[in-house]
Amino acid sequence: MHSQVVVLGGGPGGYAAAFLAADLGLEVTIVEADPRLGGTCLLRGCIPSKALLHTAKVISEAEELADWGVEFAKPSIDINKVRARKEEVIETLSGGLAKLADARKVKRIHARGVFVDSKTLNLEPVKGEPVKGASTIVGGEQLTFDYCILATGSVPAMPKFLNIGSPRVVDSTGALALVDIPESLLVVGGGYIGLEMGTVYHELGSKVTVVELADGLLPGADRDLVRPLAKRVKERFANVLLNHKVAGLKDVGDKVEVQIEGPELNDTVKFDRVLVSIGRWPVSKGFGLENTKVTVNERGFVEVDTQQRTSDPNIFAIGDVAGDPMLAHKAAYEGRIAAEVIAGKPSAFDAQAIPAVVFTDPEIAWAGLTVEEAKKAGREVEVATYPWQASGRATANGRTDGLTKWIIDPQTERVLGCGIVGSGAGELIAEAVLAIEMGCNVHDIASSIHPHPTLSETIAFAGEVHLGTATEIYKPKRK
Ligand code: FAD
Repeated sequence: MHSQVVVLGGGPGGYAAAFLAADLGLEVTIVEADPRLGGTCLLRGCIPSKALLHTAKVISEAEELADWGVEFAKPSIDINKVRARKEEVIETLSGGLAKLADARKVKRIHARGVFVDSKTLNLEPVKGEPVKGASTIVGGEQLTFDYCILATGSVPAMPKFLNIGSPRVVDSTGALALVDIPESLLVVGGGYIGLEMGTVYHELGSKVTVVELADGLLPGADRDLVRPLAKRVKERFANVLLNHKVAGLKDVGDKVEVQIEGPELNDTVKFDRVLVSIGRWPVSKGFGLENTKVTVNERGFVEVDTQQRTSDPNIFAIGDVAGDPMLAHKAAYEGRIAAEVIAGKPSAFDAQAIPAVVFTDPEIAWAGLTVEEAKKAGREVEVATYPWQASGRATANGRTDGLTKWIIDPQTERVLGCGIVGSGAGELIAEAVLAIEMGCNVHDIASSIHPHPTLSETIAFAGEVHLGTATEIYKPKRK
């Protein structure tokens, strides 16, 4: 078998690349080991977690309505239905992807691809039922290509000392499987996946404890943004242990015994379930990359240039396997660049802002330059912050625990970065991305009429804070 373009991996990077390559007139094959298209994001990441977070948000909003004079009974949760609904969402979307692939005549092969050399993949059969619309591999088949786009993604990091082979110790995939609602859940790692899943389980009724090695949740994120989230999580979760580490786990039948070490707690504590969410590892080993000229760095990421080319002229790499940030929209963006470059277009990665969103409650989102990055680069910036206490809409919603901030170039007044914490921050950040990409200055943003009363006004108002013209914020003039 031969294909002009082979995409190895059918996640958001892989299918975006494959579909655009086909739209550009190339003949394309996707090789995917999973029976369904969608990759981590759709099958065991972004989408199922957001389906569950939607449920969690409605539960918490219903509970908080008591302060507004409306009381609901404690929710009765049918875990089988919650799980089935999440599965239905996945099924609908992955079924849609298969149809889109077929409509574009993108060939699907259900197999594990292993590189023999820079132009050939061995197709290894994977267990399970034949997949509708995909070629079934019995073994021994090879697929040659002109170009391969490597989109093998990443898997949850699970160091040996935590991998004790107990069904009670799970990674994000295990947590999303939603086998039951454990009475107590320990989340190892206070990053975005741990906090999102912790939020889901908390709202479904588990007592959630988070252990984080660093001195704050979401290490690396702007502290001003993390503060409101940390406060709420502390109030709602059973415990948040910062500067603590998990030194060992032991399955003791109906529980997991966890050895926790740190300034507040140095003890062995029992939990019903443990979620290990300490990061993700790129998938760059075990499928013959050493038989190509592809270079893998010490962190396991495939090295690429701005056109997503690897050091092998026939192979491109995109998405999680090609480096941080490990986010679905970054994977799709890179996938489209690789497809365009293969089709002969002069495309290159030139995005000024890759948004990142933590879908907790409140949400945290940022895009472009952060204050921390500016400091590291020795770049002078101005920061304008609008607290949501001054927003009519946030007050009406009963959620003033937010802020919107711009990072601004003091000379040109161009907006370089934006950070938002608050309800719906993930949707709001899109305006900031566009502003940064378009090279807007703070006057452009402040003088664009935003609808009232909305949280989107805080984006314009933060600009007005910089200009000293914010209506709802009184700043005495300096003498
Ligand atoms: P993947 O989606 O990982 O897909 C890689 C595919 O390659 C897989 O389907 C795999 O089966 C296949 N594959 C690997 N090796 C082979 C081989 N040798 N042969 C054949 N097939 C192979 N990102 C966001 O942007 N927003 C979010 O809200 C978000 N939430 C997340 C929540 C969770 C719980 C998790 C785990 C991740 C989340 N992510 C989120 C991250 C997001 O899922 C990834 O960044 C994204 O899926 C990366 O896409 P990709 O195409 O690079 O790889």
